[in-house]
Amino acid sequence: MAEFRCHQCSKIMGTGEKFTFVRKGPVHLDCLVSSKRKEIAEEKVQELKLLSSVLESELQHLVNLLSRKADDEKLDTVIKNKIKEMEKASGETTRLIFEL
Ligand SMILES: [Zn+2]
Repeated sequence: MAEFRCHQCSKIMGTGEKFTFVRKGPVHLDCLVSSKRKEIAEEKVQELKLLSSVLESELQHLVNLLSRKADDEKLDTVIKNKIKEMEKASGETTRLIFEL
């Protein structure tokens, strides 16, 4: 698997860590949320809290899916499609946070 380095803290993403992608590159969930928290206006903090909890669940789900191994080819395809769906969903939530 390719190695990703967080553009905020410069650490390499470990297995099972929750991270996402923004224009600058890969970023830990926590790094994204804390840097965004510093930039946004007070009235957007609630929105950030809600969106980051949504993103956290999506990324946890993605981590769980990535750790599953299917021996069966048909099941493997099911898992791969679920991974794609979750990457899309978490990508959308990431964009909403990025644009706050
Ligand atoms: Zn980081």
